[in-house]
Amino acid sequence: MGHVKLHIPGPVEVSKKTFGAFCSPMIGHRGQGFKDLYAKMQPQLQQLLDTKQLVNLSTSSAWGVMEGAIRNLVSKKVLNCMCGAFSDKWLDVSQRCGKQAEALQVPWGSPIRAEQIDARLRTGQFDALTLIHNETSTGTMSPLGEIAALKAKYPDVMFIVDAVSSMSAVPLKFDELGIDVLLAGTQKAFALPPGLTVFTCSEAALERAGTLKDRGYYFDFVEFQKNAELSMTPSTPSIGHVYALASKLEDFFAEGLEIRYERHRRTNQMTRDWAARHGFKLFPEAGFESITLCCINNGARTGGRVVDATKLQKLVKDQGFLIDGGYGKIKGTTFRISNMGDETDLSMNLLFAALDNAMGQL
Ligand SMILES: *Cc1c(COP(=O)(O)O)cnc(C)c1O
Repeated sequence: MGHVKLHIPGPVEVSKKTFGAFCSPMIGHRGQGFKDLYAKMQPQLQQLLDTKQLVNLSTSSAWGVMEGAIRNLVSKKVLNCMCGAFSDKWLDVSQRCGKQAEALQVPWGSPIRAEQIDARLRTGQFDALTLIHNETSTGTMSPLGEIAALKAKYPDVMFIVDAVSSMSAVPLKFDELGIDVLLAGTQKAFALPPGLTVFTCSEAALERAGTLKDRGYYFDFVEFQKNAELSMTPSTPSIGHVYALASKLEDFFAEGLEIRYERHRRTNQMTRDWAARHGFKLFPEAGFESITLCCINNGARTGGRVVDATKLQKLVKDQGFLIDGGYGKIKGTTFRISNMGDETDLSMNLLFAALDNAMGQL
């Protein structure tokens, strides 16, 4: 059987054009060719994140920079906002870095709300918090705007935000939000191969990092800043990824960012409509559903027809598409369908035809 097209929420399908760019001939990472390549992308990345800060490129998956943010910015204690598999894990990572850390845990499927954070920060114990904008395991999007607004009240708390599965699919205005770190691995909505993370830091974050010992070398934000000023990275980056990102940014701006955001909203709505047509309910709390994927209840907890997600996944895979059969502790009761990256009405309709066919066989 040929290639199975990815509709899991990361990694997602990578286009031929992107792979072509990825396979460009190698250049030296201290030469003018590399500097020109990065310098050309910098204003595009800044426009994407609506920031005047430099945007950094880390050869690592997202967790490298997520862990790095803890090592660079947490001195007193970090508040880890937890609502799913990825955000829950950040507490464990903070502790493994030897930091004082506390959980703000809400049930999976619920978003994180500003008033919950406010109640904890008010204690004055914390100098950093971690938040996942779009919790990919549960398909839940937390209201970043209302949370970021707290920064004005707590200027000394570093707001570290993972936008791994939302960056480039929804508008994220870094400077306006006033948060301190924003990061994304590129195998999600960017639709690049895994292995590269894009991130930016506020002035305050760079200042804080400068005062912290034990921030290590590979993910030292001060090193990233110094190098980015010269259109370079601290160590040898995955140059293939940098070429691929340059190609992808061309695509973003050729399409237009607003049109790209609208396309994600529309293909997500199509997925919700497909689920509703089959009597399925979405897992997240109403009003906080992701727009880059749908996490769908298989019926086990919500009543009505119960569908075996593993069987559904197999029947769809036999037709050339890979969906996700549920993640972590909601595996077995949910399944997930991604619409992030390059997906269009046409490509989603091909998937829905395969899903309809599979449903008919269950
Ligand atoms: C995928 C994902 C991660 C983990 O990324 P890695 O590439 O495995 O490091 C972190 N956060 C979110 C929200 C994700 O979706």
